[in-house]
Amino acid sequence: MDITKIRDDFPILEQEVYKRPLVYFDNAATTQKPRVVIDAISNAYCTINANVHRGVHHLSQLSTEGHEGGREKVRQFLNAKTIKEIIFTRGTTESINLVASSFGEAFLSAGDEVIVSEMEHHSNIVPWQLLESKKGIKLRVIPITEVGELDMNAFRNLITEKTKLISVAHVSNVLGTINPIEQIISIAHSNNIPVLVDGAQGAPHIKVDVQKLDVDFYVFSGHKIYAPTGVGVLYGKEEWLDKMPPYQGGGEMIGKVTFEKTTFNELPFKFEAGTPDYVGVIAMTEALNYVENLGIENIAVHETELLQYTTEKLKAIGGITIYGNSSCKSGVISFNVDGIHPYDIGMLLDKQGIAVRTGHLCAQPLMDRLGIPGVVRASFALYNTKDECDKFINALNRALDILKR
Ligand code: PMP
Repeated sequence: MDITKIRDDFPILEQEVYKRPLVYFDNAATTQKPRVVIDAISNAYCTINANVHRGVHHLSQLSTEGHEGGREKVRQFLNAKTIKEIIFTRGTTESINLVASSFGEAFLSAGDEVIVSEMEHHSNIVPWQLLESKKGIKLRVIPITEVGELDMNAFRNLITEKTKLISVAHVSNVLGTINPIEQIISIAHSNNIPVLVDGAQGAPHIKVDVQKLDVDFYVFSGHKIYAPTGVGVLYGKEEWLDKMPPYQGGGEMIGKVTFEKTTFNELPFKFEAGTPDYVGVIAMTEALNYVENLGIENIAVHETELLQYTTEKLKAIGGITIYGNSSCKSGVISFNVDGIHPYDIGMLLDKQGIAVRTGHLCAQPLMDRLGIPGVVRASFALYNTKDECDKFINALNRALDILKR
């Protein structure tokens, strides 16, 4: 990959922050957008904007084509069997809430159990907890090992006849661990239990083939894969989605409405009440094309190189604890420095133009497990460079000089 050329595609990266070139290492929170994505938004509003699925007029047909073309793009991106299995949502959080609410309504009752893991983001914990209070279900939690991997023996032991769903992250947003989802799915299916995979940190870095994985639900957010905010995906097997009730009521999701009885639209529209973010979907299509043109495997190789390079340099500093030391890791490094609060480091890095994330990273139960209030996290994307890793390490050394003085 020609990174210099790639960086030219991302206008925001040209910026200086506090008179230093911006080093953007907060990609696990959200990625920057290439010009093709930004232009797609502007072009859609300048040329084809009209509500989708409703009008016979020319513009409405064009925007419907753009929106449904986006659905076909996502189908192909995930290798889903049919576009009926691709539901557009606002993002990972809404996708998980949709499944919790709708699958919960259809298939869960008091005493049933849902298995998550200790490394989940809050958005794969709280929706299930809401069901604990609504339906009396119980959450079971897969513990992690010292290196930050799922304890697979403990996982096997958690499965009982009460287990009705397993919901785990593809990749941890804190530890970077790439979880063995193939194995989890195979164990789950041998017990007739469906699996939801939170792909927020997976889809942007790992080629996902939902048919090969045989995963029941796979969810991700557009904004973490170079697409705009406000648009995301729920992949669900047709056999599940068919049996699940609508999540929200409104326009688009209906067949026929009378005051006596309302019928629902077919898949995928049954789950898409109201005007969808069709401009977001059109722009997400460009983002997925962009990623595919570079090759997701090439992107992963590049990010892993940055991960290894930076990890070595960090370790050389001394007094640093890195959280997540799996050999199967994506481009995320969370760490702390002995005796120093992560916020202080984040602030001093910021003053040198380096954007990192600090805090609990929406994973408070994991922070409790690790016995820490928070971390500093650097996370990489396709446009980052080794030179930026050097800048980050130099800036960190400078910050530590000041903080230890
Ligand atoms: N799951 C994981 C693993 C994440 O990293 C994130 C975002 N940090 C989410 C879920 C939630 O994604 P969103 O805020 O885009 O809905």
